[in-house]
Formats: sequence, structure tokens, C-alpha cells
Amino acid sequence: MKRARPPGDPRPGAAAWFIAPLALGAVALAFAVTRAAPAWLAGAALAAILSAVVGWMLASVLWPGRADRVCPVCGKEGVVRLDAREAVGRRCSACGWSDAAESAWLMAEEEEEALEPLVLRGRRRRRGDAAVDRPGASD
Ligand SMILES: [Zn+2]
Repeated sequence: MKRARPPGDPRPGAAAWFIAPLALGAVALAFAVTRAAPAWLAGAALAAILSAVVGWMLASVLWPGRADRVCPVCGKEGVVRLDAREAVGRRCSACGWSDAAESAWLMAEEEEEALEPLVLRGRRRRRGDAAVDRPGASD
């Protein structure tokens, strides 16, 4: 199994190699559209851009994001939320790794029926409401 890269790893991924050719292609296409000005080329470029946008939306709707539960340190699938009442903070149940600042929103989305209590609790905590952390505090 391929080991996951740790969060915040500054090394570019394999997809980064497509950025420069894509930028050069965009410049060449813009040059061709403005200099040669064939109507079919501008239409084809517009159709390609709109197809990419619609394709991205379809892919997002049909295959929504899932929580990554693979630990960035040990590579095992054991990452859980640091606090079941929060949407921030993750820890690994296998090796003990934890990150209190990392978002666990996708995990909360998968595990909770409603996310409003999490959001409201976090908002009250940021305002300094001490009653939020008391056991039995209402949501
Ligand atoms: Zn781990």
C-alpha cells in the first residue's frame, strides 16, 4: 500500500507536471484565437471550457468527497475525529498521531445526521461561552 504523504508536505504531486504544459497550451490557444481568429477555434475552446466545468460539477455530484481515514504517519486506516463533538481535529487510533488543527468536516458529515449542532457549538465556543463544554449542555 502506498504511504500517504503527511499534511502540509510542500513537494508537488504528479499532477503539478501538467500545469506548465497546460499554461503554454492556453497561451498558444489564446494566440491562435486572437491572431488567426477562426470562429470554429473560439467556439471549440469555449465548448471545451464549458465541458470541463459541467464535467467537474457532474463528477462532484456523482462521486462526492469522502473522508480520508488513512493515517499520514503509519499508513493504516484508523483516523477518527479528535473529539466526537467537533469538526476540527483528527487522530489515529492505530499509532496515536493527532492534529488538533486539521479539518475533520468530511468525517463529521459521514458520521452525523445533522451538522448544525456542531457548527453552533463551535460558534458559541469561539464567542467564549463556557457552558458549551459542560456535560449535558444543550445543543
Ligand atoms: Zn497512524
